[in-house]
Amino acid sequence: MDKNEKLQKLYNQCIKELDSIKIDVSEKTLGKVEIQVSKRNNKRYGCCKQEQPDEKYKIVKTIGRRRIVKFEKFNKHTIEISEWVLDLNDDIIKNTIIHEIIHCFPFCNNHGKYFKQYAQYINTKLGYNISRLGNKQEDYRKSNLDYYGNKNYNTNDESKKAYGNKENRGNGVNIGNYRYEVNGNLYKYQIKCKKCGKLIYRNRLAKDFFRKYRCLCGGKLEM
Ligand SMILES: [Zn+2]
Ligand SMILES: [Zn+2]
Repeated sequence: MDKNEKLQKLYNQCIKELDSIKIDVSEKTLGKVEIQVSKRNNKRYGCCKQEQPDEKYKIVKTIGRRRIVKFEKFNKHTIEISEWVLDLNDDIIKNTIIHEIIHCFPFCNNHGKYFKQYAQYINTKLGYNISRLGNKQEDYRKSNLDYYGNKNYNTNDESKKAYGNKENRGNGVNIGNYRYEVNGNLYKYQIKCKKCGKLIYRNRLAKDFFRKYRCLCGGKLEM
């Protein structure tokens, strides 16, 4: 499954969950929504681009001599989720998706009163933690990763060699592509911390995973 497929799958789950708590996710309310992985924006978790403003929701304000036109509903939205978010745990990815879905609802283009009402209701009913901003450090910690961002690492890095070394990839049971079973979940990759020995399991690995991440103890990771 590629990243866009994974994202689409998680998006569909989010919509189902919102529907289950009686939030109107019909196209009439939400508009058309497209979701895609963004490779450009590294700072933000995601963003929601609004198109096709709804004339019925046009608000004209006059401030002094200036007229300001604002729309409170849009009929088309493109949600972009930053690629690095897809390395995190599914519940954090879904948290991010739902944050952006809320921006698609009328009157929710900012983080004002209506946005907060949706967020609070969803957090209470579904146990999410939707807020105005994400906490990157905290989310990496929950995913058993430490983020080293854009710091430069020596490209002779040993973890890179480990990546290419098949013998190093553990002795998991081969279940199709899923070699490891942990607590009833199947995983493709087992990653080990060179320092503390902790094992981390993943189904997808970014190309630069071993350059970008370290174990929480500071140790390098290897396959
Ligand atoms: Zn937002
Ligand atoms: Zn460690």
